[in-house]
Amino acid sequence: MIEPLIYELSSPGREGVQLPEADVPQTEFPKGLTREGLPLPELSEIDVMRHFVRLSQFNHGVDTGFYPLGSCTMKYNPKINEDTARLPGFAFSHPLQDPEMAQGNLALMYGLQEWLGEIGGFAGVSLQPAAGAHGELTGILIIRAYHLDRGDNKRTKILVPDSAHGTNPATTTMSSMEVIEIASDERGNVDLNALRGHCDDCVAGLMLTNPNTLGLFEEHVTEVIKLIHDCGGLVYGDGANMNALLGVVRPGDLGFDVLHYNLHKTFSTPHGGGGPGSGPVGVLKHLIDYLPDPIVDVIEEGNDEVPPLYGLVRPSKSIGRVKSFHGHFGVAVRAYTYMRMQGKSGLRAVADHAVLNANYLRVRLRDTYHVPYDRICMHEFVAEGCWEDAPEVHAFDIAKRLMDFGIHPPTNYFPLIVREALMIEPTETESIEMLDAFVEAMIRIAEEARSDPEILKTAPHNTPLGRLDEVKAARQLVLCCRPAETNQS
Ligand SMILES: *Cc1c(COP(=O)(O)O)cnc(C)c1O
Repeated sequence: MIEPLIYELSSPGREGVQLPEADVPQTEFPKGLTREGLPLPELSEIDVMRHFVRLSQFNHGVDTGFYPLGSCTMKYNPKINEDTARLPGFAFSHPLQDPEMAQGNLALMYGLQEWLGEIGGFAGVSLQPAAGAHGELTGILIIRAYHLDRGDNKRTKILVPDSAHGTNPATTTMSSMEVIEIASDERGNVDLNALRGHCDDCVAGLMLTNPNTLGLFEEHVTEVIKLIHDCGGLVYGDGANMNALLGVVRPGDLGFDVLHYNLHKTFSTPHGGGGPGSGPVGVLKHLIDYLPDPIVDVIEEGNDEVPPLYGLVRPSKSIGRVKSFHGHFGVAVRAYTYMRMQGKSGLRAVADHAVLNANYLRVRLRDTYHVPYDRICMHEFVAEGCWEDAPEVHAFDIAKRLMDFGIHPPTNYFPLIVREALMIEPTETESIEMLDAFVEAMIRIAEEARSDPEILKTAPHNTPLGRLDEVKAARQLVLCCRPAETNQS
């Protein structure tokens, strides 16, 4: 069933607004300021409301069903986050307001910087980066500034493991550094020999995701970090997977020099079309002076009667501003609310349950789906979506078929080092009943792959739209909603 376009619902003369009588003399619009004959649909308010609410229901979201999208941590976003973000003092403040008039906002930002610093083991935090990839860029620019500041200007290489998220090499290239790919070993760790071979005085740093995109904790993490530090490089942590580590391990304590957090993954702020995101960056002491400008700091200590005075300060060797104003402040409010609601022990429980849920799924599915790096995983694991006795079925078909069970497909075809990869991350917010329903759907799909592969090849069958023609979708893009007769171009 395809929805009517809003133009097909249109009826001449129908309208959804009634303007009051004008209480000023009416004049003609100057000619040329308005476009003549604009094909606007004519509808009543209820038509518009039902049309868009119906469209919104076609989408799958965390609020409508299970969303085990590996690497992206699609956990439930508590609605209290929205309540606090809408408090008038936050929602109606202006970033150009005098800091003295925005003390509450600055106190929240300072609190968030402190909590993130404590969680990651870092001495300084910037809230400016707009998302994870932007945090990576900020972090690599900080590493670059550090080396240049010491006159160490031949360091142009950034080492990136082959399991890394695509944003890591992209970031490196954008900061005019050279990407050197490092192989993984058979246990899914960084291959230490391959790494040693690249450690020299041209290394600016290493980008390491821990746990990595296979959902595995890097077993030689301290050795890897030491190798990089010994050759004078710094270690960047891709902290998109912090959900597995909250309250358990602090990357700063392990020796990571700089790391980004994804507030929209770990700290329950909406993403995946519901953004914007936020990718704060934490640094160890020796990098504090390079943080983006400004950061929030205490200007005057408070006491029992007077709260501290917060202000915006410029770190002395700052790489400059990476985002207008103060980053995505509304996201910061949501993430801070989440942290305060969880508290210290709650955050630790998040990590414990995220890891427990992932291992539960891994063990229940590993006899049906081959898990190539089958050891205790962190918050996610990667299975293969293919079988020798069902040669025509691919991970893609399994993903499409899952939609018939009301489940969002896992990330597929990533990481690249697993063939037909299905990357599954249940998160801590799902119940055992939901996890069991997912296992049952996955096992049934594996049976269908042998008994009735056609049902997989033609899936999904129960969704508002069936399988899309991906080639046509890429070649014949329709990006605007226009009346039928003008939509042909
Ligand atoms: C999501 C993710 C990123 C990028 O974060 P964005 O907020 O999407 O820019 C980087 N690395 C890993 C491992 C991720 O999962």
